[in-house]
Amino acid sequence: MTGIAVLGSTNMDLVAYVDRAPERGQTVTGREFRTVPGGKGANQAVAAARAGGDVVMIGAVGNDEYGHRLRENLEHSGVDTDLLHTAEGPSGTAHIVVDAKGSNAIVVIPGANGVVTALGPGEIAAIAAADLLLLQLELPLSAVIEAARAGHAQGVRVLLTPSPVQQLSDELLDCVDLLIPNEHEAAELSGHTEPHAAAEVLLSHVPAVVITLGSKGCLYAARGSTAVHFPAPAVTAVDTTGAGDTFVGALAVAIGEGRPVPQAVAWASAAAALCVQKPGASTSMPYRSEIDAA
Ligand code: AMP
Repeated sequence: MTGIAVLGSTNMDLVAYVDRAPERGQTVTGREFRTVPGGKGANQAVAAARAGGDVVMIGAVGNDEYGHRLRENLEHSGVDTDLLHTAEGPSGTAHIVVDAKGSNAIVVIPGANGVVTALGPGEIAAIAAADLLLLQLELPLSAVIEAARAGHAQGVRVLLTPSPVQQLSDELLDCVDLLIPNEHEAAELSGHTEPHAAAEVLLSHVPAVVITLGSKGCLYAARGSTAVHFPAPAVTAVDTTGAGDTFVGALAVAIGEGRPVPQAVAWASAAAALCVQKPGASTSMPYRSEIDAA
């Protein structure tokens, strides 16, 4: 089994569904409210575990009802939560307003995620024991960089999803084996909206990059070889939330199993295409048997 360590955020998404989002100073009556386990770190952990990885989640939840539910949700998909700490204070929350067109506006309150500023010996050991380390940018950058350096020093392959996007230091990028931005993040980081041009710039910082392109699939580029575009399977999407995280989780499992990258990308694309056909984020992530069948 592929050993995967995920250092990242765990949030409860508080989602209000409305016909029309309120303007400044306005109050509107919405249609429905849901609480949905989320956070990019936790979503990638669930995706990787369901895809067949042996996954340990490193991070923190709050000492509250949401914290219990977030931990349970991870364990339900088989994620090891021994290194998911319970911090004093509230869990991270994402306050999301989704309008009738599916457009959203989001406020994230980091809560317990914000206390993860450094790693202890247990976290360092779990990273060293893994085959791959999955990182995003929803935890304090000091912890992300420390984890990347620990993984890199031990020969663990480091995959970074640069979200929420911000300019990245060489200290971090020097430790990254595979960067996985979506097309907006790739444009922001490279200054190019065209994916091939963006990939070329990014390859001056990291050895390989996969730029995800939504329904258009993804572009894989590695130093010294020609970039390859992988179309996405043609499916009817009902909710693309979590598609990127599903892609990353499945890709990590397949790479860890030693599959050649083109095969791994095709398998991850199949996983993400299954995710978009169901509503929700972690609830719509496919299990290994479903990905194989697709
Ligand atoms: P994104 O984060 O939107 O770039 O999506 C991540 C990945 O999810 C893409 O690279 C695709 O593999 C998959 N995906 C997203 N949207 C769709 C869609 N409408 N149909 C099929 N696959 C999709």
